[in-house]
Amino acid sequence: MNDKTPPQTAIAGRSPRRLSLKRTLGISLLISLIGFPARAEWRNSLKPAGNPCGQLVLVNDGKPMSGIVCPDNATPQDRAAATELQKWIREITGVTLDINYGGARGNLILMRTDPALGDGGYTITNLYSHIRLTGGTHRGMMNAVYALLEEDMGCRFYTPDSIRIPRTNTLVISPVGRRYTPQLRLRDPFYHCAFDADWSLRNRTSAPHAAVPEVSGGHMDYANMFVHTAEQLVPPDKYFAKYSDYFAQLTNGTRTARQLCPTHPEVAAIAIDYVRQVLQKNPDTELISISKNDNTTVCHCERCSKLRTEEGSDMANQLVLVNRVAEAIESDYPKVTIDTLAYLETIRVPKTIRPRKNVAIRLCNDNVGAWRQPFTPAAQCDVARLVKAWSEVHNRIYIWDYNVNFSHYLAPMPNLDIIASNIRFWVTNHAEGVMLQGGYQGPAERDELKSWVASKLLWNPALDEKALTKDFIWGHYGKAAQPLEDYEKLLEQMRSQFATEMDKPAGGIHYHMDAPFLTREFAMRAAELFAKARALAEGDPQLIRRVDRARLPLLYLQCARGPGFTDANYGSVVKEFERIARIENVRHLAEHGQGFEEKLEHYRKQDTGPKRLRYALFAVAAAAGLGIGLFRRSRNKTAL
Ligand SMILES: [Zn+2]
Repeated sequence: MNDKTPPQTAIAGRSPRRLSLKRTLGISLLISLIGFPARAEWRNSLKPAGNPCGQLVLVNDGKPMSGIVCPDNATPQDRAAATELQKWIREITGVTLDINYGGARGNLILMRTDPALGDGGYTITNLYSHIRLTGGTHRGMMNAVYALLEEDMGCRFYTPDSIRIPRTNTLVISPVGRRYTPQLRLRDPFYHCAFDADWSLRNRTSAPHAAVPEVSGGHMDYANMFVHTAEQLVPPDKYFAKYSDYFAQLTNGTRTARQLCPTHPEVAAIAIDYVRQVLQKNPDTELISISKNDNTTVCHCERCSKLRTEEGSDMANQLVLVNRVAEAIESDYPKVTIDTLAYLETIRVPKTIRPRKNVAIRLCNDNVGAWRQPFTPAAQCDVARLVKAWSEVHNRIYIWDYNVNFSHYLAPMPNLDIIASNIRFWVTNHAEGVMLQGGYQGPAERDELKSWVASKLLWNPALDEKALTKDFIWGHYGKAAQPLEDYEKLLEQMRSQFATEMDKPAGGIHYHMDAPFLTREFAMRAAELFAKARALAEGDPQLIRRVDRARLPLLYLQCARGPGFTDANYGSVVKEFERIARIENVRHLAEHGQGFEEKLEHYRKQDTGPKRLRYALFAVAAAAGLGIGLFRRSRNKTAL
């Protein structure tokens, strides 16, 4: 079998063991009943619309009925994808299907790379009595395998250890025929729990920090140049003393190493040299960031000031440097994109200077959107005007969005609808990549749920976030799901009840734990729901751990608000928070500032002891006082 149509003689021919259509339909139904009998509430939210393109019996009564066939000249990605499919079919059925190269007999799953599908696109079709999977040159084949497993067969990979697959000794597949290429090349739920390479592969994200190996299709690789790279490109230690004119001039005429002078030709020459070295050492790199250090300093030299005034944006100056690097590498590295930040003072579109075609604009939803209004869709914030302006002049927009409270990673944050509507908004405005910056330093509020739902929306923004959320909750929490679903509703109620307060909360995305919408009533109701979930999970240690992890935001809120906010004993709440947080390896409760241990110590100090004990001590003291009084009175009497 090669890139052309597979030779029929090698693979065709009806297997004598092929089952009748009627019987196989019956078996299909049986699998769905056997596979997911317990929870009628779980629904396959990824089920593709359309008609089956064919039907294939893979395993019947514990016996292999089919095989996998790759071309003679299979790519490493073809081989890896075939092995992956073989592995999951074995997990489902206990049966290992053969992988053949070139051809085989029987009704088969055919797999081959098709460069026409780009990097990540795939098709599922039929060819005679076979099912054929094709995929693009990088992750395409793997994406085809996981589309079949997740969408058609209902397998789930919610977290690295929350995997839900049917178990059966008879497996018949009837996939819907389709062709799909995701619009977003970069799909990055920037949460710590989403950095796992296996999870990323299975959920079809392409995140730079999830190191999916090249043999499995790779990931979007920045080498070591992810963001704020000015200091890397022209290190002040090396250049500032001798060549201070390479660096930004302040208004008083002195130079500062905080930023570069981006229009200086020598700065570009040094940057080009550096980028070439990085690309030579890292041949799999797709993206290189040429971006300012993380501060708002701009260069006020005569050349930079003039250009900035003429163009109306400091981005003009930045693009001078970025375009010079992009032009220098484009013929030698045609697949590499240079990206730069449209962020703070570089966020506006210059009047005439435009990015080269191998440049991506990484637009940040910062002061112009999520930082101030984390519960308002981007379409209604200032960023809407900016993304439209950028998408009118350039078609390679990468979005950097913000989706967590960076001062309180565990703060209750009902924003799944915002995440979903923003992804759709970016995609309609030429987004080629979307990164959702969440709890990237460790566990965060509903991080596993949000990462999973986001991964599906980044792949296909047309999916329904509510259906995806239910899919996760019923699949991940099983018999404890109902209270967890009710908790989602409670969070939604918070949004509708406190719409005004949540429009522009004090502190913006860093809103405080005494925000008016984080009420005592919310905490009490949430505590009831988690108690129910805990009871339902009884006897299942894994499920108890999942429920406990989901409870961390409530416990954090209760700890942060101090004694008096909760009816429960404050000291017990702090201890419970500590217990679960240590199991889940919580180290960072905020992006900056106090770490876990310091905050925990603070909570402990607030604990003035159990209420009952305080009452008891008060009673003892009162009784003692009364006793002393009586004693004195009796002594007085005696004296009298
Ligand atoms: Zn300058």
